[in-house]
Amino acid sequence: MKKAAIVGAGIGGIAASIRLALKGYQVTVYEANESFGGKMHEFWLGGYRFDAGPSLFTLPRLVDELFELAGRKPADYFTYTRLNPITHYFWPDGSHLKAYADPEKFAQEAAQQLGVPEQDVREVLARSRRLYRGTADTFLNKSLHKAGTYLSPDILKALGCLTDLGLTTTMHQANANKFKDPRFVQLLDRFATYNGSDPYQAPGTLNIIPHLEHNIGAFYPKGGMYAIAASLVKLAEELCVEFRYREPVEQIVTLAGKVMSVKTAQDNYNADVVVSNMDVVPTYRKLLADHPAPEKTLKQPRSSSALIYYWGIRKQFPELHLHNIFFSADYREEFEQIFQRKTISSDPTIYVNITSKLEPEDAPAGSENWFVMVNVPHHQGQDWQKLIATTRETVLQKLSSMLHTNIEELIEQEQVLDPLLIESRTSSFAGALYGSSSNNMMAAFLRHPNFSSQIDGLYFCGGSVHPGGGVPLCLLSAKIVGELVPDVAPAEKV
Ligand code: FAD
Repeated sequence: MKKAAIVGAGIGGIAASIRLALKGYQVTVYEANESFGGKMHEFWLGGYRFDAGPSLFTLPRLVDELFELAGRKPADYFTYTRLNPITHYFWPDGSHLKAYADPEKFAQEAAQQLGVPEQDVREVLARSRRLYRGTADTFLNKSLHKAGTYLSPDILKALGCLTDLGLTTTMHQANANKFKDPRFVQLLDRFATYNGSDPYQAPGTLNIIPHLEHNIGAFYPKGGMYAIAASLVKLAEELCVEFRYREPVEQIVTLAGKVMSVKTAQDNYNADVVVSNMDVVPTYRKLLADHPAPEKTLKQPRSSSALIYYWGIRKQFPELHLHNIFFSADYREEFEQIFQRKTISSDPTIYVNITSKLEPEDAPAGSENWFVMVNVPHHQGQDWQKLIATTRETVLQKLSSMLHTNIEELIEQEQVLDPLLIESRTSSFAGALYGSSSNNMMAAFLRHPNFSSQIDGLYFCGGSVHPGGGVPLCLLSAKIVGELVPDVAPAEKV
Protein backbone atom coordinates (compact mmCIF):
# COMPACT_ATOMS: atom_id res chain seq x y z
CA MET A 1 0.00 0.00 0.00
CA LYS A 2 1.52 3.36 -1.05
CA LYS A 3 1.50 6.04 1.63
CA ALA A 4 1.31 9.80 1.16
CA ALA A 5 2.07 12.25 3.98
CA ILE A 6 0.80 15.81 3.68
CA VAL A 7 2.37 18.50 5.85
CA GLY A 8 -0.37 21.01 6.71
CA ALA A 9 -4.16 21.13 6.40
CA GLY A 10 -4.41 24.48 4.62
CA ILE A 11 -6.75 24.55 1.62
CA GLY A 12 -3.90 23.36 -0.64
CA GLY A 13 -3.07 20.42 1.64
CA ILE A 14 -6.72 19.40 1.97
CA ALA A 15 -7.22 19.47 -1.81
CA ALA A 16 -3.98 17.51 -2.36
CA SER A 17 -5.12 14.89 0.18
CA ILE A 18 -8.32 14.32 -1.82
CA ARG A 19 -6.48 14.04 -5.11
CA LEU A 20 -3.93 11.55 -3.75
CA ALA A 21 -6.60 9.49 -1.97
CA LEU A 22 -8.43 9.27 -5.29
CA LYS A 23 -5.22 8.05 -6.90
CA GLY A 24 -5.16 5.17 -4.45
CA TYR A 25 -2.70 6.42 -1.82
CA GLN A 26 -3.25 5.92 1.87
CA VAL A 27 -3.12 9.59 2.90
CA THR A 28 -2.35 11.15 6.27
CA VAL A 29 -2.42 14.91 6.82
CA TYR A 30 -0.25 16.19 9.69
CA GLU A 31 -1.43 19.56 11.00
CA ALA A 32 0.30 21.67 13.63
CA ASN A 33 -2.91 23.42 14.71
CA GLU A 34 -5.86 21.90 16.51
CA SER A 35 -7.97 21.99 13.36
CA PHE A 36 -7.87 22.36 9.57
CA GLY A 37 -8.04 25.39 7.27
CA GLY A 38 -4.81 27.28 7.99
CA LYS A 39 -5.51 30.87 6.96
CA MET A 40 -9.06 29.80 6.08
CA HIS A 41 -10.43 29.28 9.56
CA GLU A 42 -13.35 30.81 11.45
CA PHE A 43 -13.97 31.95 14.99
CA TRP A 44 -16.71 33.46 17.12
CA LEU A 45 -16.45 36.58 19.25
CA GLY A 46 -19.51 36.82 21.46
CA GLY A 47 -22.45 36.47 19.06
CA TYR A 48 -20.35 37.35 15.98
CA ARG A 49 -18.89 34.82 13.52
CA PHE A 50 -15.82 35.76 11.51
CA ASP A 51 -13.96 34.19 8.62
CA ALA A 52 -10.43 34.83 9.81
CA GLY A 53 -8.67 35.07 6.44
CA PRO A 54 -9.90 34.86 2.85
CA SER A 55 -13.21 36.53 2.08
CA LEU A 56 -13.47 36.70 -1.72
CA PHE A 57 -14.34 33.46 -3.48
CA THR A 58 -13.60 33.04 -7.18
CA LEU A 59 -13.32 30.02 -9.50
CA PRO A 60 -15.73 27.80 -7.48
CA ARG A 61 -15.40 25.28 -10.29
CA LEU A 62 -12.10 24.20 -8.72
CA VAL A 63 -13.93 23.16 -5.56
CA ASP A 64 -16.82 21.49 -7.38
CA GLU A 65 -14.32 19.55 -9.42
CA LEU A 66 -12.98 17.78 -6.32
CA PHE A 67 -16.44 16.49 -5.38
CA GLU A 68 -17.13 15.44 -8.96
CA LEU A 69 -13.80 13.60 -9.19
CA ALA A 70 -14.89 11.62 -6.15
CA GLY A 71 -18.25 10.83 -7.80
CA ARG A 72 -20.18 13.14 -5.44
CA LYS A 73 -22.67 15.92 -6.13
CA PRO A 74 -21.02 19.19 -4.99
CA ALA A 75 -24.37 20.61 -3.84
CA ASP A 76 -24.71 17.77 -1.31
CA TYR A 77 -21.68 19.25 0.49
CA PHE A 78 -21.34 22.87 -0.40
CA THR A 79 -23.36 25.61 -2.10
CA TYR A 80 -22.62 29.16 -3.18
CA THR A 81 -24.30 32.10 -4.87
CA ARG A 82 -23.01 34.57 -7.42
CA LEU A 83 -22.61 38.09 -6.03
CA ASN A 84 -24.34 41.08 -7.57
CA PRO A 85 -23.11 43.70 -6.97
CA ILE A 86 -19.66 42.36 -6.28
CA THR A 87 -18.05 45.29 -4.46
CA HIS A 88 -19.02 48.74 -3.23
CA TYR A 89 -16.23 51.27 -3.82
CA PHE A 90 -15.98 54.59 -1.96
CA TRP A 91 -13.51 57.39 -2.75
CA PRO A 92 -12.39 60.24 -0.49
CA ASP A 93 -13.97 62.80 -2.90
CA GLY A 94 -17.39 61.37 -2.00
CA SER A 95 -17.87 59.35 -5.19
CA HIS A 96 -19.25 55.85 -4.86
CA LEU A 97 -19.58 52.96 -7.29
CA LYS A 98 -21.28 49.58 -7.18
CA ALA A 99 -19.39 47.06 -9.30
CA TYR A 100 -22.25 45.04 -10.77
CA ALA A 101 -21.74 41.51 -12.02
CA ASP A 102 -23.56 42.30 -15.25
CA PRO A 103 -20.88 43.96 -17.46
CA GLU A 104 -23.31 46.36 -19.12
CA LYS A 105 -24.75 47.48 -15.79
CA PHE A 106 -21.21 47.86 -14.42
CA ALA A 107 -20.31 49.99 -17.47
CA GLN A 108 -23.40 52.18 -17.02
CA GLU A 109 -22.70 52.62 -13.31
CA ALA A 110 -19.06 53.60 -14.02
CA ALA A 111 -20.30 56.15 -16.56
CA GLN A 112 -22.93 57.59 -14.20
CA GLN A 113 -20.87 57.67 -11.01
CA LEU A 114 -17.35 58.39 -12.32
CA GLY A 115 -17.91 59.68 -15.83
CA VAL A 116 -15.85 56.77 -17.20
CA PRO A 117 -16.77 55.97 -20.82
CA GLU A 118 -18.77 52.73 -20.88
CA GLN A 119 -16.39 51.49 -23.55
CA ASP A 120 -13.50 51.61 -21.04
CA VAL A 121 -15.22 49.07 -18.81
CA ARG A 122 -15.94 46.82 -21.77
CA GLU A 123 -12.31 47.13 -22.83
CA VAL A 124 -10.99 46.21 -19.37
CA LEU A 125 -13.15 43.11 -19.23
CA ALA A 126 -12.25 42.09 -22.79
CA ARG A 127 -8.52 42.61 -22.13
CA SER A 128 -8.54 40.47 -18.99
CA ARG A 129 -10.58 37.78 -20.78
CA ARG A 130 -8.02 37.67 -23.61
CA LEU A 131 -5.18 37.52 -21.11
CA TYR A 132 -6.80 34.71 -19.16
CA ARG A 133 -7.71 32.65 -22.18
CA GLY A 134 -4.26 33.13 -23.67
CA THR A 135 -2.22 32.37 -20.59
CA ALA A 136 -4.09 30.31 -17.98
CA ASP A 137 -3.32 26.94 -19.56
CA THR A 138 0.40 27.72 -19.66
CA PHE A 139 1.00 29.85 -16.57
CA LEU A 140 -1.62 28.65 -14.08
CA ASN A 141 -2.94 25.21 -14.88
CA LYS A 142 0.36 23.37 -15.40
CA SER A 143 3.79 23.11 -13.88
CA LEU A 144 5.97 25.78 -15.44
CA HIS A 145 8.98 23.67 -14.55
CA LYS A 146 8.35 20.77 -16.91
CA ALA A 147 9.54 20.86 -20.51
CA GLY A 148 6.20 19.47 -21.70
CA THR A 149 4.49 22.75 -20.78
CA TYR A 150 6.60 24.61 -23.33
CA LEU A 151 6.06 21.99 -26.04
CA SER A 152 2.28 22.11 -25.67
CA PRO A 153 0.14 23.98 -28.23
CA ASP A 154 -1.05 26.19 -25.31
CA ILE A 155 2.22 28.10 -25.55
CA LEU A 156 1.04 29.43 -28.92
CA LYS A 157 -2.05 30.90 -27.22
CA ALA A 158 0.21 32.66 -24.72
CA LEU A 159 2.40 34.04 -27.51
CA GLY A 160 -0.74 35.19 -29.31
CA CYS A 161 -1.53 37.65 -26.51
CA LEU A 162 1.99 39.04 -26.10
CA THR A 163 0.82 42.65 -26.51
CA ASP A 164 -1.79 42.27 -23.77
CA LEU A 165 0.67 40.42 -21.53
CA GLY A 166 2.19 43.73 -20.46
CA LEU A 167 5.64 42.23 -19.94
CA THR A 168 7.37 45.57 -20.41
CA THR A 169 4.97 47.78 -18.43
CA THR A 170 3.88 47.79 -14.84
CA MET A 171 0.27 47.02 -14.07
CA HIS A 172 -0.30 50.69 -13.23
CA GLN A 173 1.28 51.89 -16.48
CA ALA A 174 -0.82 49.42 -18.47
CA ASN A 175 -3.94 50.87 -16.83
CA ALA A 176 -2.99 54.55 -16.68
CA ASN A 177 -1.81 54.56 -20.32
CA LYS A 178 -5.22 53.35 -21.43
CA PHE A 179 -7.73 54.88 -19.06
CA LYS A 180 -8.09 58.51 -17.99
CA ASP A 181 -10.08 58.53 -14.77
CA PRO A 182 -7.67 58.13 -11.82
CA ARG A 183 -10.38 56.50 -9.69
CA PHE A 184 -11.04 53.87 -12.35
CA VAL A 185 -7.29 53.27 -12.66
CA GLN A 186 -7.09 52.91 -8.87
CA LEU A 187 -9.93 50.37 -8.94
CA LEU A 188 -8.04 48.36 -11.58
CA ASP A 189 -4.66 48.70 -9.86
CA ARG A 190 -6.12 47.30 -6.64
CA PHE A 191 -6.33 43.86 -8.22
CA ALA A 192 -2.53 43.63 -7.67
CA THR A 193 -3.26 43.25 -3.97
CA TYR A 194 -5.09 39.98 -4.70
CA ASN A 195 -1.69 38.32 -4.69
CA GLY A 196 0.02 40.76 -2.35
CA SER A 197 1.78 42.78 -5.03
CA ASP A 198 2.41 46.43 -5.81
CA PRO A 199 0.71 47.70 -8.98
CA TYR A 200 3.53 50.20 -9.45
CA GLN A 201 6.09 47.37 -9.73
CA ALA A 202 4.18 44.26 -10.82
CA PRO A 203 3.96 43.46 -14.55
CA GLY A 204 0.84 44.36 -16.55
CA THR A 205 0.10 40.65 -16.79
CA LEU A 206 -1.66 40.95 -13.43
CA ASN A 207 -4.48 42.64 -15.34
CA ILE A 208 -5.67 39.08 -15.84
CA ILE A 209 -7.21 39.16 -12.32
CA PRO A 210 -10.43 41.15 -13.03
CA HIS A 211 -11.44 38.34 -15.40
CA LEU A 212 -11.88 35.98 -12.45
CA GLU A 213 -14.06 38.39 -10.49
CA HIS A 214 -16.02 40.09 -13.27
CA ASN A 215 -16.24 37.69 -16.20
CA ILE A 216 -16.33 34.35 -14.39
CA GLY A 217 -17.84 35.81 -11.24
CA ALA A 218 -17.37 36.44 -7.54
CA PHE A 219 -19.26 34.08 -5.24
CA TYR A 220 -20.30 33.66 -1.64
CA PRO A 221 -20.18 30.17 -0.10
CA LYS A 222 -23.09 29.37 2.21
CA GLY A 223 -21.63 29.24 5.72
CA GLY A 224 -18.75 31.55 4.81
CA MET A 225 -15.32 30.85 3.36
CA TYR A 226 -14.65 28.36 6.13
CA ALA A 227 -17.37 26.16 4.60
CA ILE A 228 -15.03 25.50 1.65
CA ALA A 229 -12.40 23.94 3.91
CA ALA A 230 -14.97 22.18 6.10
CA SER A 231 -16.81 20.57 3.17
CA LEU A 232 -13.55 19.40 1.59
CA VAL A 233 -12.37 17.89 4.87
CA LYS A 234 -15.68 16.02 5.08
CA LEU A 235 -15.04 14.63 1.60
CA ALA A 236 -11.41 13.77 2.44
CA GLU A 237 -12.50 11.87 5.55
CA GLU A 238 -15.06 9.94 3.50
CA LEU A 239 -12.14 8.96 1.26
CA CYS A 240 -10.33 7.63 4.37
CA VAL A 241 -7.82 10.47 4.63
CA GLU A 242 -6.57 10.62 8.22
CA PHE A 243 -6.09 14.08 9.79
CA ARG A 244 -3.65 14.19 12.69
CA TYR A 245 -4.08 17.53 14.48
CA ARG A 246 -1.63 19.12 16.96
CA GLU A 247 1.08 17.08 15.29
CA PRO A 248 3.60 19.40 13.59
CA VAL A 249 6.07 17.74 11.25
CA GLU A 250 9.62 18.43 12.44
CA GLN A 251 11.57 16.80 9.65
CA ILE A 252 11.12 15.30 6.21
CA VAL A 253 13.44 12.31 6.37
CA THR A 254 15.27 11.34 3.17
CA LEU A 255 17.70 8.63 2.13
CA ALA A 256 19.75 8.52 -1.06
CA GLY A 257 17.81 11.40 -2.59
CA LYS A 258 14.36 9.99 -1.84
CA VAL A 259 11.73 10.76 0.82
CA MET A 260 11.43 8.04 3.45
CA SER A 261 9.21 9.43 6.20
CA VAL A 262 7.99 12.44 8.14
CA LYS A 263 9.07 12.89 11.72
CA THR A 264 6.88 14.42 14.42
CA ALA A 265 7.30 14.53 18.21
CA GLN A 266 5.08 11.42 18.39
CA ASP A 267 6.61 9.16 15.75
CA ASN A 268 8.42 8.67 12.47
CA TYR A 269 5.86 7.85 9.76
CA ASN A 270 6.92 6.08 6.54
CA ALA A 271 5.81 7.73 3.31
CA ASP A 272 6.37 7.06 -0.39
CA VAL A 273 5.26 10.58 -1.21
CA VAL A 274 5.44 13.74 0.91
CA VAL A 275 3.55 16.91 -0.04
CA SER A 276 4.49 20.05 1.88
CA ASN A 277 1.67 22.54 2.27
CA MET A 278 3.85 24.44 4.73
CA ASP A 279 5.27 27.69 3.35
CA VAL A 280 8.24 26.73 1.18
CA VAL A 281 10.76 28.87 3.14
CA PRO A 282 10.31 27.11 6.53
CA THR A 283 9.90 23.79 4.69
CA TYR A 284 13.54 24.12 3.58
CA ARG A 285 14.86 25.92 6.66
CA LYS A 286 13.22 23.63 9.24
CA LEU A 287 12.05 20.36 7.71
CA LEU A 288 14.91 19.93 5.23
CA ALA A 289 17.63 21.72 7.18
CA ASP A 290 20.35 19.30 5.96
CA HIS A 291 19.53 19.82 2.29
CA PRO A 292 20.70 22.62 0.01
CA ALA A 293 17.87 25.14 -0.44
CA PRO A 294 17.04 26.97 -3.70
CA GLU A 295 18.29 30.26 -2.26
CA LYS A 296 17.47 32.43 -5.27
CA THR A 297 13.83 31.34 -5.21
CA LEU A 298 13.52 31.62 -1.44
CA LYS A 299 14.93 35.16 -1.53
CA GLN A 300 12.29 36.46 -3.94
CA PRO A 301 10.47 39.44 -2.40
CA ARG A 302 7.67 38.41 -0.07
CA SER A 303 4.11 39.52 -0.66
CA SER A 304 2.36 42.08 1.50
CA SER A 305 0.61 41.03 4.67
CA ALA A 306 -2.53 42.33 6.37
CA LEU A 307 -3.68 43.99 9.54
CA ILE A 308 -7.22 43.01 10.41
CA TYR A 309 -9.56 44.40 13.03
CA TYR A 310 -12.49 42.05 13.59
CA TRP A 311 -15.22 44.24 15.02
CA GLY A 312 -18.66 43.33 16.31
CA ILE A 313 -20.63 46.48 15.37
CA ARG A 314 -23.82 47.33 17.22
CA LYS A 315 -25.60 48.86 14.24
CA GLN A 316 -26.49 48.07 10.63
CA PHE A 317 -25.31 50.12 7.66
CA PRO A 318 -27.66 49.80 4.68
CA GLU A 319 -25.18 51.63 2.42
CA LEU A 320 -22.65 48.77 2.87
CA HIS A 321 -22.66 45.32 1.30
CA LEU A 322 -20.54 42.15 1.61
CA HIS A 323 -17.36 43.65 0.06
CA ASN A 324 -16.63 47.36 0.60
CA ILE A 325 -13.53 49.34 -0.33
CA PHE A 326 -12.68 52.79 1.03
CA PHE A 327 -9.86 54.06 -1.14
CA SER A 328 -6.89 56.20 -0.13
CA ALA A 329 -6.37 59.61 -1.71
CA ASP A 330 -2.84 58.80 -2.93
CA TYR A 331 -2.48 55.19 -4.04
CA ARG A 332 1.14 55.50 -5.19
CA GLU A 333 2.12 56.88 -1.79
CA GLU A 334 0.26 54.03 -0.06
CA PHE A 335 2.26 51.37 -1.93
CA GLU A 336 5.48 53.34 -1.51
CA GLN A 337 4.87 53.14 2.26
CA ILE A 338 4.16 49.39 2.17
CA PHE A 339 6.87 48.16 -0.20
CA GLN A 340 9.68 50.75 0.08
CA ARG A 341 9.33 52.22 3.58
CA LYS A 342 7.96 48.96 5.02
CA THR A 343 5.29 50.66 7.06
CA ILE A 344 1.59 51.58 6.83
CA SER A 345 0.28 54.65 5.09
CA SER A 346 -1.38 57.33 7.23
CA ASP A 347 -4.25 57.10 4.72
CA PRO A 348 -4.61 53.39 3.91
CA THR A 349 -7.21 51.87 1.62
CA ILE A 350 -9.64 50.04 3.90
CA TYR A 351 -11.49 46.85 3.04
CA VAL A 352 -14.62 46.05 5.08
CA ASN A 353 -16.15 42.60 4.68
CA ILE A 354 -19.52 41.93 6.33
CA THR A 355 -20.84 38.39 5.96
CA SER A 356 -23.88 39.15 8.13
CA LYS A 357 -25.22 41.06 5.11
CA LEU A 358 -25.82 37.64 3.52
CA GLU A 359 -25.97 35.47 6.64
CA PRO A 360 -27.81 37.40 9.35
CA GLU A 361 -27.01 34.68 11.91
CA ASP A 362 -23.33 35.75 11.74
CA ALA A 363 -24.17 38.70 14.01
CA PRO A 364 -26.73 39.47 16.75
CA ALA A 365 -29.97 41.14 15.61
CA GLY A 366 -29.42 44.75 14.53
CA SER A 367 -25.62 44.28 14.40
CA GLU A 368 -22.93 43.46 11.83
CA ASN A 369 -19.67 41.49 11.84
CA TRP A 370 -17.01 43.77 10.35
CA PHE A 371 -13.75 42.34 9.06
CA VAL A 372 -11.71 45.51 8.56
CA MET A 373 -8.45 45.01 6.70
CA VAL A 374 -5.60 47.18 5.48
CA ASN A 375 -2.65 46.01 3.38
CA VAL A 376 0.61 46.18 5.28
CA PRO A 377 4.19 45.05 4.67
CA HIS A 378 5.27 41.56 5.67
CA HIS A 379 7.18 41.41 8.92
CA GLN A 380 10.63 42.95 8.75
CA GLY A 381 11.10 43.88 12.40
CA GLN A 382 8.41 46.59 12.63
CA ASP A 383 6.88 47.56 15.97
CA TRP A 384 3.45 46.02 15.32
CA GLN A 385 1.88 47.05 18.61
CA LYS A 386 2.56 50.68 17.73
CA LEU A 387 1.36 50.26 14.14
CA ILE A 388 -1.80 48.45 15.28
CA ALA A 389 -2.65 51.33 17.65
CA THR A 390 -1.96 54.19 15.20
CA THR A 391 -3.66 52.44 12.27
CA ARG A 392 -6.71 51.73 14.43
CA GLU A 393 -7.08 55.48 15.04
CA THR A 394 -6.63 56.27 11.34
CA VAL A 395 -9.11 53.61 10.25
CA LEU A 396 -11.72 54.71 12.79
CA GLN A 397 -11.36 58.33 11.80
CA LYS A 398 -11.63 57.59 8.08
CA LEU A 399 -14.59 55.21 8.34
CA SER A 400 -16.39 57.50 10.78
CA SER A 401 -15.96 60.43 8.45
CA MET A 402 -16.94 58.55 5.29
CA LEU A 403 -19.95 56.88 6.94
CA HIS A 404 -20.93 59.96 9.01
CA THR A 405 -21.11 57.89 12.21
CA ASN A 406 -18.83 57.49 15.20
CA ILE A 407 -17.72 53.90 14.60
CA GLU A 408 -15.66 53.49 17.76
CA GLU A 409 -18.78 53.90 19.92
CA LEU A 410 -20.38 50.96 18.07
CA ILE A 411 -17.61 48.39 18.60
CA GLU A 412 -18.74 45.82 21.13
CA GLN A 413 -16.31 43.01 20.27
CA GLU A 414 -12.77 43.29 18.96
CA GLN A 415 -9.88 41.09 17.95
CA VAL A 416 -6.80 41.87 15.85
CA LEU A 417 -4.68 39.84 13.42
CA ASP A 418 -1.23 41.07 12.42
CA PRO A 419 1.68 39.66 10.38
CA LEU A 420 3.34 38.15 13.45
CA LEU A 421 0.19 36.22 14.37
CA ILE A 422 -0.27 35.11 10.75
CA GLU A 423 3.28 33.73 10.83
CA SER A 424 2.93 32.04 14.22
CA ARG A 425 -0.46 30.49 13.38
CA THR A 426 0.31 29.17 9.89
CA SER A 427 4.14 29.23 9.57
CA SER A 428 3.80 31.68 6.67
CA PHE A 429 7.27 33.17 6.34
CA ALA A 430 7.31 36.77 7.66
CA GLY A 431 3.50 36.70 7.78
CA ALA A 432 3.28 37.20 4.00
CA LEU A 433 -0.24 36.36 2.81
CA TYR A 434 0.71 34.95 -0.58
CA GLY A 435 4.30 33.67 -0.32
CA SER A 436 6.36 35.72 -2.75
CA SER A 437 4.94 38.82 -4.41
CA SER A 438 4.73 39.24 -8.18
CA ASN A 439 6.65 42.50 -8.07
CA ASN A 440 9.16 41.40 -10.68
CA MET A 441 8.94 39.15 -13.68
CA MET A 442 11.00 36.37 -12.12
CA ALA A 443 8.87 36.33 -8.96
CA ALA A 444 5.66 36.56 -11.00
CA PHE A 445 6.38 33.63 -13.29
CA LEU A 446 8.97 31.41 -11.65
CA ARG A 447 7.78 30.60 -8.18
CA HIS A 448 9.03 27.46 -6.50
CA PRO A 449 7.93 24.40 -8.51
CA ASN A 450 5.35 21.92 -7.25
CA PHE A 451 8.00 19.19 -7.03
CA SER A 452 11.58 18.84 -5.85
CA SER A 453 14.18 18.14 -8.50
CA GLN A 454 16.63 17.04 -5.75
CA ILE A 455 14.47 14.74 -3.64
CA ASP A 456 12.39 12.05 -5.24
CA GLY A 457 8.86 11.80 -3.89
CA LEU A 458 8.76 15.37 -2.52
CA TYR A 459 6.06 17.78 -3.73
CA PHE A 460 4.82 21.25 -2.77
CA CYS A 461 1.40 22.87 -2.78
CA GLY A 462 -0.18 26.01 -1.33
CA GLY A 463 0.15 29.73 -1.66
CA SER A 464 3.94 30.01 -1.49
CA VAL A 465 4.64 27.89 -4.59
CA HIS A 466 3.51 27.74 -8.23
CA PRO A 467 1.08 29.01 -9.46
CA GLY A 468 0.63 31.40 -6.50
CA GLY A 469 -1.33 32.56 -3.48
CA GLY A 470 -5.07 32.93 -3.05
CA VAL A 471 -7.60 30.13 -2.72
CA PRO A 472 -8.06 29.30 -6.43
CA LEU A 473 -4.34 29.14 -7.10
CA CYS A 474 -3.76 26.98 -4.00
CA LEU A 475 -6.40 24.59 -5.38
CA LEU A 476 -4.58 24.62 -8.73
CA SER A 477 -1.27 23.86 -7.00
CA ALA A 478 -2.89 20.75 -5.50
CA LYS A 479 -4.24 19.81 -8.91
CA ILE A 480 -0.77 20.05 -10.45
CA VAL A 481 0.65 17.95 -7.60
CA GLY A 482 -2.09 15.38 -8.24
CA GLU A 483 -0.98 15.20 -11.87
CA LEU A 484 2.75 14.96 -11.04
CA VAL A 485 2.55 12.28 -8.33
CA PRO A 486 2.96 8.81 -9.88
CA ASP A 487 -0.07 6.59 -10.19
CA VAL A 488 -0.41 3.68 -7.77
CA ALA A 489 -0.35 0.24 -9.36
CA PRO A 490 -3.85 -1.32 -9.14
CA ALA A 491 -2.65 -4.07 -6.76
CA GLU A 492 -1.27 -1.45 -4.33
CA LYS A 493 -4.33 0.81 -4.24
CA VAL A 494 -6.11 1.40 -0.95
P1 FAD B 1 -2.20 27.85 4.72
O1 FAD B 1 -3.53 28.45 4.93
O2 FAD B 1 -1.02 28.73 4.73
O3 FAD B 1 -2.05 26.72 5.81
C1 FAD B 1 -0.87 25.99 5.99
C2 FAD B 1 -1.17 24.97 7.09
O4 FAD B 1 -0.01 24.20 7.31
C3 FAD B 1 -1.51 25.63 8.42
O5 FAD B 1 -2.68 25.05 8.92
C4 FAD B 1 -0.31 25.32 9.30
O6 FAD B 1 -0.63 25.18 10.66
C5 FAD B 1 0.16 24.02 8.71
N1 FAD B 1 1.57 23.76 8.95
C6 FAD B 1 2.62 24.58 8.70
N2 FAD B 1 3.77 23.99 9.04
C7 FAD B 1 3.45 22.75 9.50
C8 FAD B 1 4.21 21.65 9.98
N3 FAD B 1 5.53 21.70 10.06
N4 FAD B 1 3.55 20.53 10.35
C9 FAD B 1 2.20 20.46 10.27
N5 FAD B 1 1.43 21.48 9.82
C10 FAD B 1 2.05 22.60 9.45
N6 FAD B 1 -7.30 34.36 -0.79
C11 FAD B 1 -8.37 34.48 -1.61
O7 FAD B 1 -8.51 33.69 -2.56
N7 FAD B 1 -9.32 35.45 -1.39
C12 FAD B 1 -9.22 36.33 -0.36
O8 FAD B 1 -10.11 37.15 -0.16
C13 FAD B 1 -8.09 36.25 0.50
N8 FAD B 1 -7.96 37.10 1.55
C14 FAD B 1 -7.04 36.81 2.52
C15 FAD B 1 -7.06 37.54 3.70
C16 FAD B 1 -6.23 37.21 4.75
C17 FAD B 1 -6.27 37.98 6.02
C18 FAD B 1 -5.33 36.11 4.61
C19 FAD B 1 -4.46 35.70 5.76
C20 FAD B 1 -5.27 35.42 3.41
C21 FAD B 1 -6.12 35.76 2.36
N9 FAD B 1 -6.13 35.05 1.15
C22 FAD B 1 -7.15 35.20 0.26
C23 FAD B 1 -5.09 34.07 0.85
C24 FAD B 1 -5.54 32.65 1.14
O9 FAD B 1 -6.14 32.60 2.39
C25 FAD B 1 -4.33 31.76 1.12
O10 FAD B 1 -3.63 31.89 -0.12
C26 FAD B 1 -4.69 30.29 1.29
O11 FAD B 1 -5.70 30.09 2.24
C27 FAD B 1 -3.41 29.59 1.70
O12 FAD B 1 -3.61 28.21 1.74
P2 FAD B 1 -2.41 27.21 1.85
O13 FAD B 1 -2.85 25.93 1.25
O14 FAD B 1 -1.17 27.82 1.31
O15 FAD B 1 -2.23 26.94 3.41
